[in-house]
Amino acid sequence: MQFLNNTAASIEAQPEQLPDLNLPDAPAFLDALTSLPNYALFRNQLELCLSRAEHKSQELAVMVIGLDRFKQINDTYGYAAGDLVLQASSRRLAAFLTGHCALARLGGDSFALAVEIPADGQAVSALAERINQSLSAPFLIEGEEAFITASIGISHYPGQGKSVCELIANAKTAMDQIKDHGRDSHLFFDPERHQSRRSTRRAVLERALHHALEKEQLVLLYQPQIDLDNGEVRGVEALLRWNHPELGTISPTEFIPLAEETGLIHPISEWVLHTACTQNSTWHKQGHTSLRMAVNLSAQQFSKPGLDQLVHGVLEKSGLAPRWLELELTETIALHDIDAAIETLKVLKNMGVRLAIDDFGTGYSSLSYLRYFPIHSIKIDRSFVGGITTNSSDAAITRAVIAMAQNLGVRVVAEGVENEKQLIFLRSYQCHEVQGYYFFPPMSAKSIGQILLRQTEKSALSLSWSNPIPLGFSSGNP
Ligand code: C2E
Ligand code: MG
Ligand code: MG
Repeated sequence: MQFLNNTAASIEAQPEQLPDLNLPDAPAFLDALTSLPNYALFRNQLELCLSRAEHKSQELAVMVIGLDRFKQINDTYGYAAGDLVLQASSRRLAAFLTGHCALARLGGDSFALAVEIPADGQAVSALAERINQSLSAPFLIEGEEAFITASIGISHYPGQGKSVCELIANAKTAMDQIKDHGRDSHLFFDPERHQSRRSTRRAVLERALHHALEKEQLVLLYQPQIDLDNGEVRGVEALLRWNHPELGTISPTEFIPLAEETGLIHPISEWVLHTACTQNSTWHKQGHTSLRMAVNLSAQQFSKPGLDQLVHGVLEKSGLAPRWLELELTETIALHDIDAAIETLKVLKNMGVRLAIDDFGTGYSSLSYLRYFPIHSIKIDRSFVGGITTNSSDAAITRAVIAMAQNLGVRVVAEGVENEKQLIFLRSYQCHEVQGYYFFPPMSAKSIGQILLRQTEKSALSLSWSNPIPLGFSSGNP
């Protein structure tokens, strides 16, 4: 995580000049990192291209370009270098803009390009090959050559889609297919191939997910967060599970992205928020009056208008005071429109809700946003915590994040604590809270109720927290 010590990587001795793209100034439509149009603007531009193409009976190609294994660049050289590679890639792609066409960053490591060219498959293929070649030229990072490749999915207007949404979705489908089969290449959308993919696990899950809520297949587990000052359960994090009758328990890391792609994330998030707040309200009524409930919010849910009303309504209905709800957000909320993100955070903060940055250190963002984010806590990602006793960089990063959080006056929670050595390390640097299998796995509401009860009985006996002994890991599945 080189951005912590701000060692800006130097990429390409002679940076390419970004051509004049005739873009509107409105920052809401530009990607903050690359200054390319964002997805919203790209859709508008493509709409114009389509009407022009229709009018002139011309054909169009839409490409979705995904950088392959971009995560490795971040992991190897740090996020600052990752950002510079994205900027340099956008400049290389901009060199392919001619005439009436559009280029955008769709988010993360993917771009989209729409070009008006003859309906000659070969001409499009040749262009895709040139793009691949251009992106595979080395990037110079601090004197070292770094290489990436790209997977390009192509849809063709009018043959493989007539609307903006269809064309982008079909090009994206084709890109996903190359990513599954070797990468570093390009592929045209093929409806037959697409049909056969519909029977894959992903497609099966996607269809079943539409019914998961009504069939009551979603459940929340809760994982305690332990205060290192006194060893008490200070809060719990709600973690979603999907119990499918045939496929078994499905992890949120598998189905949340699907829910995001299909828009199902909105009803699912509402259900999660409502269930978690109602559960915490019940625990409060049972006497656990200072228990916090952390709920994960996806970036999509965060940027949907009306989040504050939703949260307000759920809190009112459940009877939970706002300060006992903590919303966990990842750094990706800062990726596209930082000003809007800050505004939403302020509104939520003013309602009295707590805000946490989850998986801290894994996003592409720069640290500067932290100055403006009205957050209450930072959660150190478990990929760093996992290495604190074996990897000197992970230890240094974790120490730096704890110190930074302390200086900013926010609480710091370490995720994924799995053993005593990690706990001793975290305590010695005054990390405020810990969460992980060493203490408790995610558990059912009933099991949490029992833990809370034991804690109340213990504190009535004034037992103090003296040594790093786990509070009671319950073996087996909760
Ligand atoms: P997260 O919010 O960072 O949650 C922590 C993840 O670490 C959880 O995985 C938890 O089970 C796991 N974990 C906890 N302690 C340990 C440990 O000691 N070692 C290891 N190796 N792992 C540990 P889980 O439950 O599979 O959730 C994965 C991710 O899915 C979450 O990461 C969160 O980003 C997302 N997620 C979960 N529930 C929801 C939800 O209701 N809404 C949204 N939008 N996302 C959710
Ligand atoms: Mg979380
Ligand atoms: Mg996390």
